[in-house]
Amino acid sequence: MLPPGSTIGILGGGQLGRMLAVAAAQLGYKVHIYAPDAESVAAEVTAHHSQAAWDDEPRLAAFAAACDIVTFEFENVPVDTVRFLSGHVAVHPGAKALEIAQDRLAEKTFVAGLGGRTAPFASVPDRATLDASLGEIGAPAILKTVRMGYDGKGQARLGTAADADTAWETIGRHAAILEGFVAFEHEFSVILVRGLDGEVRYWDSTVNVHEGGILATASLPAPPIVAAQQAEARAMMAEIAAALDYVGVLTGEFFATDAGPVFNEMAPRVHNSGHWTIEGAVASQFDNHIRAIAGLPLGSTATRQLPVVMRNLIGADIAAIPALLADENCHVHHYSKTEVRDGRKLGHATWAGAAPGAPPA
Ligand code: AMP
Repeated sequence: MLPPGSTIGILGGGQLGRMLAVAAAQLGYKVHIYAPDAESVAAEVTAHHSQAAWDDEPRLAAFAAACDIVTFEFENVPVDTVRFLSGHVAVHPGAKALEIAQDRLAEKTFVAGLGGRTAPFASVPDRATLDASLGEIGAPAILKTVRMGYDGKGQARLGTAADADTAWETIGRHAAILEGFVAFEHEFSVILVRGLDGEVRYWDSTVNVHEGGILATASLPAPPIVAAQQAEARAMMAEIAAALDYVGVLTGEFFATDAGPVFNEMAPRVHNSGHWTIEGAVASQFDNHIRAIAGLPLGSTATRQLPVVMRNLIGADIAAIPALLADENCHVHHYSKTEVRDGRKLGHATWAGAAPGAPPA
């Protein structure tokens, strides 16, 4: 058990780091943020901050020496950075989970290899292979860059094979994966926490609604098809976590289909669709991630009271905060980012145990 007063290092300086840091502080830990960007909304709430490049080995070594344990909040931290740090200090979750999650092809290959259900997929290293892969997978299909895709970026839909040229240009001619289009009823996530001793706990699976490729809302109770497929999706995620010897919070995103839950992707970290757990669950994803990596007993993941709605505040949505503050059942989170940009996640609002706009209890 990591004693209170110890320092937890977090790679990445965004809102996930900020919320992890608040949870760590509540448990008596100090936090040291390491991130290259000038703005760090996480470092605003922590004791220590290193603004340095991911490949700055002297700074990384100094960071490792200043921390008792290290984790990450950003899944595009270079794997070499985590490998380097792992030679100096314990890093949870490890480099392997990060490496797989950064590569859509490796990720789907890994999950399919464990017997998980995925969309049909094929590797598209270049434009010539796209035609052959389309012949194999068929249309409609989705072309996604293998690396650095998030929030629907680096993706193109192909209605027919005639869209191949446009799709290849849209994704910037990068190495890609072609996926068969999954006819799904709903999207949902499984968020689990796995302790140092291998104990696994799950939060309830929210139904996730995306707008423009970005998560808009995560809500409970989920529709019956999601509730019915939660157990199978959980079993898949538990197997993935065990295969990676994973410690901390792990998220899997799924499609609920007639054939059962289809794995889409995983995030080796706390997840936007789990922000509701701060007010809506007994122990939040942030609290339990810190508990897991610190070797503390895990907290209960039980939902406190239905219904739950988490709504992201994206771009101009942030202007709704005064109105949200007037809703007595609304918990407002402002990430304190200075630049308001379309598509940028600037905050979120959670209603737990009451619907948006409901009269105060
Ligand atoms: P991703 O970046 O993989 O999370 O994809 C972004 C969004 O595109 C998902 O949330 C889905 O709404 C949609 N999507 C991704 N892959 C597929 C697929 N194979 N079939 C149907 N829809 C998909």
